[in-house]
Amino acid sequence: MDVTKVIKQHLEMEQFFSGFSLKGKAGATEPRPSKTGRGEPQQQEDKMADPEKAAELEKIAEEVHQCRKCSLGSLRTNAVPGEGNSNARIMFVGEGPGADEDAQGRPFVGRAGQLLDRVIVAMGLKRSEVFIGNILKCRPPENRDPRADEIISCLPYLQRQIEIIEPEIIVALGAHAARTLLNTTKSIGQLRGQFHEYYAGLGRPPIKLMATYHTAYLLRNYSQENRRRVWEDMKKVLTELGLPIPEHSAG
Ligand code: URA
Repeated sequence: MDVTKVIKQHLEMEQFFSGFSLKGKAGATEPRPSKTGRGEPQQQEDKMADPEKAAELEKIAEEVHQCRKCSLGSLRTNAVPGEGNSNARIMFVGEGPGADEDAQGRPFVGRAGQLLDRVIVAMGLKRSEVFIGNILKCRPPENRDPRADEIISCLPYLQRQIEIIEPEIIVALGAHAARTLLNTTKSIGQLRGQFHEYYAGLGRPPIKLMATYHTAYLLRNYSQENRRRVWEDMKKVLTELGLPIPEHSAG
């Protein structure tokens, strides 16, 4: 065993998550109004965004805000269409909004979102450079698992978002996102850590999909092993994109 390599990996992983408080206040992330949600776009997004794609995403967001295709539509405070860069190389896909997301109408703004922010920063990226979406656009009551009928109603919105953005890599966060996008019943343990192919439609090249643990799962199971696994998965994503792996990631 190469001890230096093991120590380096350990330090890297520690830095990856350092400074993240497990008892952190929910919703403490900086407000990031989105081009595809409601509110003013960010400057960084402006720089990279494609105006035509952004307009198409905005149209989907408006449809989502009006949507009543399933019962979740009448239970929500806010729909959460997703947000981020219309030209993103990476798209993160979660399961569905929780209480904080429902209150703010923005994806991943609660504690799981703060951890996702750290993951993104650790990768040497900015949240405004990626796109963050969900399988479900409305919060299931008590954060229960998405039901099949809800997924069937809601999935076309995400599929269209993927078609517009054409990311090079989709990162599926957790079993629900990974299973839905890959149309499989395999466990997240079986799926994570390797690239799969997501098919966006006939005539379109498949998009590489990396499945990893959901940050909410990671919060509940905050072991070194799980953190290391997520970091290893994200390193594969960076390598695939030809991006450098930051040595001093999140500090
Ligand atoms: N968990 C998700 O899957 N999505 C969110 O937007 C927030 C938490």
